Amino acid sequence: MLDKVIINKLECFGKHGVFKEENVLGQKFVVSAEMLVSRSSNDDLATSVNYGEVSLFIDNIVRNKVFKLIETLAENIAEGILKNFNVHEVTVKVEKPWAPVGLPLKTVSVEITREWHTAYIALGSNLGDKQKYLDDAVQGLADTEDCIVEQVSDYLVTEPYGGVEQDVFLNGALKLRTLLTPEELLDRLHELEQAAHRERIVHWGPRTLDLDILLYDQMIIDTPVLHVPHIDMENRDFVLIPLTELAPYYRHPVLNKTISQLLKELQAK
Ligand code: ADP
Ligand code: MG
Repeated sequence: MLDKVIINKLECFGKHGVFKEENVLGQKFVVSAEMLVSRSSNDDLATSVNYGEVSLFIDNIVRNKVFKLIETLAENIAEGILKNFNVHEVTVKVEKPWAPVGLPLKTVSVEITREWHTAYIALGSNLGDKQKYLDDAVQGLADTEDCIVEQVSDYLVTEPYGGVEQDVFLNGALKLRTLLTPEELLDRLHELEQAAHRERIVHWGPRTLDLDILLYDQMIIDTPVLHVPHIDMENRDFVLIPLTELAPYYRHPVLNKTISQLLKELQAK
């Protein structure tokens, strides 16, 4: 079950603000946090979130860090809660009742929502030590701040795709939990490709490492640099076979079919 645990108007003291005086004197900040917690059905705190601990955690950030903007403060609190507690999604509101505006107002505030996303990434290599390139990519994502590698498929050897004469591929897929946006994740994948000395010479030609975003939650993205779900994945068994291992019942948000259904249809062609 998904419970909502709410901390309402926790009063903290901090020194955030764009004015020097604010960074010296400090003032009151009022923080609220609404947390979605996935809890098993027993009456055990260990399966939920300890709001006392979260309150201390929030107070500690407000008290000990200094940010110019309450947006940044809210973001820091939200990401800290997601990374340190059993929380899937959090909405953080920071109010600043004594904001130096010079006019009578009750509070100024910001509210942000952050959540863990699930992404599936395709891995491919057909040059050099292919297994090492894929292993390094998995490790590179595991070492990335705001990313948790949850599961990695078996690797499989496949014939090249796209009609260019070249060596066979080693392919796989992995399941990622991430706080990164799709664009930030794509940038990170490009960094890892570059670290593997990938050169883009021939389209669909040989490469040390290819990392593609297959799926990102149920999101549909069509921009000049990013297509999600990944283009043409329903016609690529080297994508669908490892993905079926990780997420057979995941529904493709455009085709409205599960991954295992897509694989069955492709294999029947
Ligand atoms: P391909 O993966 O199609 O064999 P590349 O790896 O060279 O070819 O990708 C070329 C471009 O595809 C990338 O620079 C990226 O901007 C774009 N692209 C679009 N959608 C995606 C996606 N879902 N995952 C990764 N790259 C994508
Ligand atoms: Mg690619």
